[in-house]
Amino acid sequence: MKPTTTFTSDTVQISLRKMGSAKYVKMSYPVFSGIYAEVETRDLVLHFNLNNEIIRARGKGADWPHPHEWLKRNMGNDWIYYSTGGYTGVYEATGEYYLPNLPYKTNGMLGGAPFQNGCLQELINSWPRCLEEILTRESNLPEDIVSFLEKALANNADRLQQTADNLFTLCGGRSTVLPPDARHVDYNVIPITVATGCLYKCRFCEVKNKRLFAPKSPAEIDHQLDGLMRIYRDDLINYNGLFLGEHDALNAGPKLILYTLKSAEEKLNLSASFLHGCSAYLFGSVSSLLNTPDDFFREIEQLPFQVYINIGLESHDQATLDLLGKPITSAQVADAFARIQDINDNFSKTEITANFVLDEDLPQTHLPAFLELVRESLPRVKPKGCVYLSPLKFGQPSRSKTFGFNRLKVLSRVPTYLYIIQRL
Ligand code: SF4
Repeated sequence: MKPTTTFTSDTVQISLRKMGSAKYVKMSYPVFSGIYAEVETRDLVLHFNLNNEIIRARGKGADWPHPHEWLKRNMGNDWIYYSTGGYTGVYEATGEYYLPNLPYKTNGMLGGAPFQNGCLQELINSWPRCLEEILTRESNLPEDIVSFLEKALANNADRLQQTADNLFTLCGGRSTVLPPDARHVDYNVIPITVATGCLYKCRFCEVKNKRLFAPKSPAEIDHQLDGLMRIYRDDLINYNGLFLGEHDALNAGPKLILYTLKSAEEKLNLSASFLHGCSAYLFGSVSSLLNTPDDFFREIEQLPFQVYINIGLESHDQATLDLLGKPITSAQVADAFARIQDINDNFSKTEITANFVLDEDLPQTHLPAFLELVRESLPRVKPKGCVYLSPLKFGQPSRSKTFGFNRLKVLSRVPTYLYIIQRL
């Protein structure tokens, strides 16, 4: 890769191949990872990936909500607003310093309505105009800067949506929910569908689809990987995380998962990423977890991946499971929780995390049963094996409800956070 080039005039500074952080870090001020292009004017800052597609934007005017907040565009072509949440309790609640405000209804308890601020939408709509003006106004632009600006302009809103649609088509549909652990790479994961559907089709679930559970074949995995190489192209160097979809990839079985990880590492060349380390994120179910032998986790120890598997336990209370329409028993949930502790204690490259639901209308027995697992069943505080509490209601943020969450967090003996459902 060529070194960083910078052009500066009285009105603009443009840097190509600017080096950001080589790892994802959790800081209370913005730290951007990877290699990207930056355009900065008096009014705004724009970032582009190595395919010249816009990935971040920030206004600098008085109407911009906060100088440390920004807009991010992901590969699903969603614009997400990263807010500090006033720095009050966001880190304690989510494990991250910044709160992703999503442009669709989700189950987040925190956050306001930043998209109602017109200057965010204005920036999303108007960034191409800024590039056009630079091309027209600046007479001394070097050739490589002109080429970058022209390519970035060609990646207009329609083209960006087309790329996202191509990604969805390749993977057999949009990833409607990412595992909460994907926060460790800021949800910048490359999606590979190893199996469609899920086993349980729980009544309460807002993200399920109608597809029966069906694993993909190795040939289908290879086909996806070839397509992903074409979609991510020059920007692959900025990725070190995979999402193995869909809702119960663990049930696809050790052989297919290990095949996918090895093939992805090789074809996508993740070990050569600018970002240190590789990680993979997937969902599992109580059944798939209890059916997965230790040998699978032993094999993962030999791979370059840190693997995070998120299991939907939902409740340790039978009345709640019945109300949710989740066809498992509280005894199975207890077995799965014990198995999670066993795996987390014995395998350094796997972390199994678990989800439980949170809602004030659930049976009164739900929270005591939750505490039986995350407090009473554990003799001491553990640093590994996060538990995520997932609010059941969508589109109803309520800071006051976080009081109850904080109480549970203090009592829990594993790291405990809120789960904000986020798609790709
Ligand atoms: S909670 Fe999980 S297993 Fe249940 S329907 Fe939703 S995706 Fe399927």
